[in-house]
Amino acid sequence: MVELEDLPNVGAKTAQKLRDAGFGDMMRLATATAKELSVKAEIGEGVAEKVIEAARRAEKIDFETAFDVMERRKDVGRITTGSKALDELIGGGIETQAITEVFGEFGSGKSQLSHELAVTVQLPEERGGLDAEAVFIDTENTFRPERIEQIANAFELDLEEVLNKIHIARAFNSSHQILMAEKVNELIQEGKNIRLVIVDSLTAHFRAEYVGREALATRQQKLNQHLHTLQNIANTYNAAVFVTNQVQARPDAFFGSPTKAIGGHVLGHAATYRIWLKKGLAGKRIARLVDSPHLPEGECVFKITTAGIVD
Ligand code: ADP
Repeated sequence: MVELEDLPNVGAKTAQKLRDAGFGDMMRLATATAKELSVKAEIGEGVAEKVIEAARRAEKIDFETAFDVMERRKDVGRITTGSKALDELIGGGIETQAITEVFGEFGSGKSQLSHELAVTVQLPEERGGLDAEAVFIDTENTFRPERIEQIANAFELDLEEVLNKIHIARAFNSSHQILMAEKVNELIQEGKNIRLVIVDSLTAHFRAEYVGREALATRQQKLNQHLHTLQNIANTYNAAVFVTNQVQARPDAFFGSPTKAIGGHVLGHAATYRIWLKKGLAGKRIARLVDSPHLPEGECVFKITTAGIVD
């Protein structure tokens, strides 16, 4: 394996700076931008460019054939949502190497799904998990350990073990949220087997802080940067990213185009899978897959119960 010190232009001191800034991983380095690297690791932009170039050569980042892509797709892991119907709708569960967005009005089940996945990612593969740990970036103080307890019980898992494998970050504003996503790299480099990053809610802080038309460009730029960080984590560590997004209720237009989703085109393009949640009758929830690179659009029904998400 190539070490940082093996790269041209990188001595012991620079290597230390890179590690301290969370760029100890060669792939992480190879996918950084020169600006990002120079700011975070406090090195000149020229040096940063050379180091990134070298890391890209070491990681053999270049064109690849469709065969290579298919090989990489074989590593894609899936995490069960708890509902067979919902899993099937999205091709077998939430995918790694991708960003999945759920959007819907208040109470549609976005946080419930987030809690469910924080538990199911811990299940062994034969039960629909990845035998791994989760990061939960909580922006609206909606994380509830009591809810994890109910779901863990339903899967007959040891509660303390489950709680210890969910790493919570309370994000108080959008800058804090961006920072916490970047820190996931450090957690993984410390040896934590993180295969799921949840951001609930992705957009709330951005929406509250950047108000009005003149703030729109800045908001989208920051959100874009944040999504870039998340996609990078998904690719580098073969992890799933699950983000939630609130929209206004438009009962008249459920089957129309969900153009009111906050985040606009930036989020629309960044999310690989987009799931629209809606409240149905008798506590049921309707999920609609509205965007996917290889699956047909479709719908399913699931329920939220004390035991978590079920068919
Ligand atoms: P949001 O989309 O706003 O994040 P939530 O995911 O918080 O919405 O969903 C809230 C809904 O989940 C509640 O209205 C309730 O119907 C359901 N719910 C929450 N906790 C439980 C529970 N322990 N048992 C059954 N249903 C629950």
